Amino acid sequence: MSYAAGRHFLQIPGPTNVPDSILRAMSAPVIDHRGPEFAELGRELLQGVKPVFGTTNPVVIYPATGTGAWEAALVNTLSPGDRILGFETGHFATLWREMARGFGLEVDFVPGDWRHGASPEVVADTLAADTAHAIKAVCVVHNETSTGVTSRVPDVRAAIDAAGHPALLLVDTISSLGSIDYRHDEWGVDVTVAGSQKGLMLPPGMSFNAVSEKAMEAAKTAALPKTFWDWGPMLAANQRGFFPYTPNTNLMYGLKEALRLLNEEGLPNVFARHARHAEATRAAVRGWGLEVVCLDEREHSGSLTAVLVPDGVDADKVREVILDRFDMSLGAGLGKLAGKIFRIGHLGAFNDLTLAGTLAGVQMGLTLAGVPLDRTGIDAALERLQSE
Ligand code: PLP
Repeated sequence: MSYAAGRHFLQIPGPTNVPDSILRAMSAPVIDHRGPEFAELGRELLQGVKPVFGTTNPVVIYPATGTGAWEAALVNTLSPGDRILGFETGHFATLWREMARGFGLEVDFVPGDWRHGASPEVVADTLAADTAHAIKAVCVVHNETSTGVTSRVPDVRAAIDAAGHPALLLVDTISSLGSIDYRHDEWGVDVTVAGSQKGLMLPPGMSFNAVSEKAMEAAKTAALPKTFWDWGPMLAANQRGFFPYTPNTNLMYGLKEALRLLNEEGLPNVFARHARHAEATRAAVRGWGLEVVCLDEREHSGSLTAVLVPDGVDADKVREVILDRFDMSLGAGLGKLAGKIFRIGHLGAFNDLTLAGTLAGVQMGLTLAGVPLDRTGIDAALERLQSE
């Protein structure tokens, strides 16, 4: 690879660009994780992170990627042989199902076309039919990073309530937290799973479980094996700002700065910024004459837009041209969408001109790759960005 001047455009849907102030905050000496200075930091972060989840309940912080937090959500609340309800919304929902099966859970996995979110109607019907309350949890991926489709979590909650069913609600917010409106307490979520490397603008390597009282209660009898992920010793140590094992100290410095940035902008403004950039991106895609993957207007993602390429075009080739010529990384199609789509990440530390540059790179790359398109497509996005 020859030297590329200027900044690489990392427009995959996470890991996202890390703001300079976060990089600087992390570039500090490691401190004693059992000493008083750390305890103060630990206590501050364990409190400070709660509003981002919309909770006043405990949030567990793991030195692990999001996959670890998925596992933690399952092993702390469920027992071998338990039934859970999941939805085939895309690649990540499918991976979570595989993990659950690996633990000996029985997964009712509702098939999907990867273009819609979890169906609240199916939740309502399935739980109403489960009069024996065999289903112990409903698992939903709030923002399917593989498709750019969100699930309507409040509607899923309402469906569980309408069925009068006691199942726990476990929600993956790995690519929505800090980007798309989310309310753990208000929406009655029992375990929220999150990661550091997307809306929180941090490098990968830290993940979270926000835990409701009902989930804490379930943890008392959950029999799946666990040691590292066990909420019990974690929450006990957290009381004093500590962790049962070595936390990733420097990512915690970064988290402190990330929380400062999110608070300074204000979460409602952060969500509005993401929604606006998503709208502008869809305007460009439609202007080009291409199709976004998401089919339901209520379910468009604020974090990323997945774009279908015309039949006969290899989406990976388009991404390759864009990387080679314009030094921009876009997300690949995953699982059954491999080669059929590319994904534009517009989340985290991101502004109007970053989006304009990103879309210009996509438009030029599509043209160079020989994809038939309307080359005034980007104008619709610029119009959107010019307006408030
Ligand atoms: N869930 C979703 C929605 C994701 O987007 C990802 C990763 O991109 C994961 C789970 C897995 O997280 P990680 O790769 O951090 O382990």
